[in-house]
Amino acid sequence: NSWWSNVEMGPPDAILGVTEAFKRDTNPKKINLGVGAYRTDEGKPFVLESVKKAETLIANENLDKEYAPISGVLDFCQASAKLAFGDNSRVIKDQLYATVQGISGTGSLRIGATFLAKFFPGNKIIYLPNPSWGNHTPIMKHAGLDVKSYRYYDPKTCGFDFNGAKEDIEKIPENSIILFHACAHNPTGVDPRPEQWKELSAIVKKRKLFVFMDMAYQGFASGNIDEDAFAVRKFVEDKHNLILAQSYAKNMGLYGERVGAFTAVCEDKDEVERVMSQIKILIRPMYSNPPVHGARIAAKILNQADLRSIWLKEVKYMADRIITMRQQLVDNLKNNGSKKNWQHITDQIGMFCFTGLNQQQSERLIKDFSVYLTKDGRISMAGVTSKNNAYLANAMHEVTK
Ligand code: PMP
Repeated sequence: NSWWSNVEMGPPDAILGVTEAFKRDTNPKKINLGVGAYRTDEGKPFVLESVKKAETLIANENLDKEYAPISGVLDFCQASAKLAFGDNSRVIKDQLYATVQGISGTGSLRIGATFLAKFFPGNKIIYLPNPSWGNHTPIMKHAGLDVKSYRYYDPKTCGFDFNGAKEDIEKIPENSIILFHACAHNPTGVDPRPEQWKELSAIVKKRKLFVFMDMAYQGFASGNIDEDAFAVRKFVEDKHNLILAQSYAKNMGLYGERVGAFTAVCEDKDEVERVMSQIKILIRPMYSNPPVHGARIAAKILNQADLRSIWLKEVKYMADRIITMRQQLVDNLKNNGSKKNWQHITDQIGMFCFTGLNQQQSERLIKDFSVYLTKDGRISMAGVTSKNNAYLANAMHEVTK
């Protein structure tokens, strides 16, 4: 009898399972729209020019491989906070940010969740949009928070359920925690408009809720890093001392390097010191200190003007390609004779599109057309290219006739 005979087989990861099935498929026309990683118009992974240049510079500096501090690479942390809040923010000017390097977005969320579980003085319940990124619930629960939700997506319009969200948020008990996707909501691609963010900020203030912002796609939604930071900056302007998780997986294409940051906006400098000291105490037994390579790359790009300007163009290039693919997909659906309203495809933003296809239609897309997506009808727009766009449109039309 083994020590682990009591361990039951767990279910496979919903998204990685899609890729496994894709790999087994022998249809030459197959398309993988499951995984959320950017692809070029040739369907290839993309290493940014700014990243390659930064790596060359770093290699030539002959840096050592000593440990980073528990809080990570310092100039990376400072540059991250500036990227999120903007150079002119009071948070930056008055140094009201406690920022640590995290293991990409996931690890940064996890630091935040753990900090809340230990120190949040109100209800240790976090309200997530419905639906939300599939990993949010387990991250929060593992850290010890309870998870509830507020209405977000309206299946009737494939858009934002603003009234539903407001109604639900109004009813959240005071001193609870609410999570927002700062931009390019995953899985729906549906974001509140600026006026709607303003209202949400006011309601959240009125309800005395504490805000956790997840910004995994800054620049990836509109192509502009400042525009995509609107929600974060508006909430900060409205004096929400929020916490924030950032990821450089998407906007720098540093998926496997695991570069991210966690920030707590604080009331004053003394609070920054105290909060920072406790975050470090939480990190130490989890992984001691974060890896340096990716953070050095990101810091170079953010801090060196020539690299930064190349990067900003590359972010826009990636976002624009996705926006173009959305328009082409709608055009191709119309050309195929589809009479359905597909406007949500171009209204939605960022990496993902919630097509509105139901489970049965999604399964047919996989079985009959070798177009791989998650069962909720979410497709990764990054996997759509000018070559497979028409094939995809035809398949979507066939299963929705
Ligand atoms: N938050 C959201 C909403 C995401 O979609 C993702 C990536 N899929 C992440 C966080 C974190 O990803 P990573 O850990 O790769 O940075």
